[in-house]
Amino acid sequence: MNGGSAVSGVQGLQGLQGVPEMSAAVAFAGMKRVVDVVFRAGCPDCRANVELGASALRLAIGATSKTTFYSFTCPECGVAVRKPAGERIVELLTGGGVRTLRLHSPG
Ligand SMILES: [Zn+2]
Repeated sequence: MNGGSAVSGVQGLQGLQGVPEMSAAVAFAGMKRVVDVVFRAGCPDCRANVELGASALRLAIGATSKTTFYSFTCPECGVAVRKPAGERIVELLTGGGVRTLRLHSPG
């Protein structure tokens, strides 16, 4: 029997100053319209909770989930924030119209 390993959750980069936020929550401004999607994220530097539009976020998809992350510039302190993005976050961001950059070139 190959049971394999136990089901693991989101495996992000660890050791980042113990950032409490583990995922980006998404709030839809409209009822069911995908126009105004606002992503909420916490800044690990100034610890501000910021709301970002899709245009303020960038998603970088690497060859593996460990090299997949999203980034944004904190509007409060101006620091460049980079956080690992799990599959769900990738879905949320791409579905919300966030620019996606593929780090690995196909073929
Ligand atoms: Zn900040």
